[in-house]
Amino acid sequence: MPTTTHCDILIVGGGLVGCATAWHLSRLGFKVLLAERGHLNSGASGQNAGSLHFQIERRFLEQGEKAAADGARIVSLNRLAIEEWKGIEEMLGRPLDVAMHGGLMVAETEAEMDLLAFKVARENELGLPTRVLNGTQLHHKAPALSPNLAGAAWLEDEGHANPRILVDAFADGARGQGAVVQTGTALAGLSMQRDRTYRATLQGLDGEVTANTPRVLLAAGHWVPRLAGLLGLNVPLYPAPLMMSVTDRTEPVLPYLIQHVGRRLSMKQTEDGNLLIGGGWPSRLAKRADGTPDLDRPAIVELANLRANLEVAARVMPGLAERSLLRTWTGTTCISADQLPIVGEVAAAPGLFVAAGGSLFTLGPVLARLLARTIAEGATPEELTMFTPRRFAHLDAFAVLP
Ligand SMILES: Cc1cc2nc3c(=O)[nH]c(=O)nc-3n(C[C@H](O)[C@H](O)[C@H](O)COP(=O)(O)OP(=O)(O)OC[C@H]3O[C@@H](n4cnc5c(N)ncnc54)[C@H](O)[C@@H]3O)c2cc1C
Repeated sequence: MPTTTHCDILIVGGGLVGCATAWHLSRLGFKVLLAERGHLNSGASGQNAGSLHFQIERRFLEQGEKAAADGARIVSLNRLAIEEWKGIEEMLGRPLDVAMHGGLMVAETEAEMDLLAFKVARENELGLPTRVLNGTQLHHKAPALSPNLAGAAWLEDEGHANPRILVDAFADGARGQGAVVQTGTALAGLSMQRDRTYRATLQGLDGEVTANTPRVLLAAGHWVPRLAGLLGLNVPLYPAPLMMSVTDRTEPVLPYLIQHVGRRLSMKQTEDGNLLIGGGWPSRLAKRADGTPDLDRPAIVELANLRANLEVAARVMPGLAERSLLRTWTGTTCISADQLPIVGEVAAAPGLFVAAGGSLFTLGPVLARLLARTIAEGATPEELTMFTPRRFAHLDAFAVLP
């Protein structure tokens, strides 16, 4: 690359959000430059569970009624995401191991069944056709699960896809449409010029490049707050270090995505037959010598949480106790101050967009489509308004920009 370059938009981060947005914008004719400091898919997008979960997540339900009501607002986006995933293999022109055979959020106790009933009623009001199954119906549908389960909420469109291949599909497509995708290239400096365009310093293996651009999208996952900090801006996203485990292969026993309404659990069987186990159990952030969290090193497996995760999984699916654990790994995602994704233009910095936070494997493709529309049309589509960074504009009340 020359030492100075110009683009219509600089996208920072080569995960799902960055690459999918690059795909949409390059298709719309934008001159896109995407900078990824490592290799594509090296962040949460390549480390996640691959669950396509459209029921209200347990993390909203466990924080009381207000959080549950707030969380329910995401259902309208989940419904769009279902349609997005149904068409994604055709859109990108290659298989992505998308399996949408249905999902069960199980309950073990009567209290958990009550919570499921509350959740399902709210979802049905919002047009999501979940329904409650009693223990007998559940056992009939999923005989591999424990007969002791009290029941489950069933949604026929849930499932999973392969996080190891999706990002490349978007990136290859974006390149084919003219986007420049630079790996090994980190955003190291960012300033707003007097004419309100941006000057970015990109550090790569071959030295430094200055990119001048009217628009920047920070799609750098849990590193977004650090990068927004280059402009003195505040994006309230917090790192969430998690763990995943995978067993050896077995014959097909689990066609569905399994979640638990009362405990942290996600479980599924891949195309190859391995069982993937996760559900939001925390790992531990590495620390620097001064004791502060080190976001640039992998998080550390927390053994007590690994044991607890596997215990819940084996209680829900007893046959799991017969399987060998092949690997456990960590990955770090981020949640926002109100648990909803933060997606859109930053009020204090016209032309600066952010997109991060929440379950962005499930929601990344549809959010990227809506964000690209926002950027191209200069107006936020109705479906994105609740995710706007403007809800946190007060945090930038003291920012100084040209
Ligand atoms: C263990 C785990 C399980 C999960 N399970 C699920 C699930 O089942 N379903 C679901 O919907 N979601 C799940 N998630 C969440 C989901 O993975 C993330 O929300 C999503 O992948 C975020 O994608 P992203 O593109 O925003 O960020 P990332 O994939 O993290 O990408 C950010 C990229 O930015 C790059 N970057 C950082 N700083 C710079 C810089 N200065 N310059 C250039 N590049 C930079 C990084 O190298 C990285 O590649 C899970 C997350 C984890 C960790």
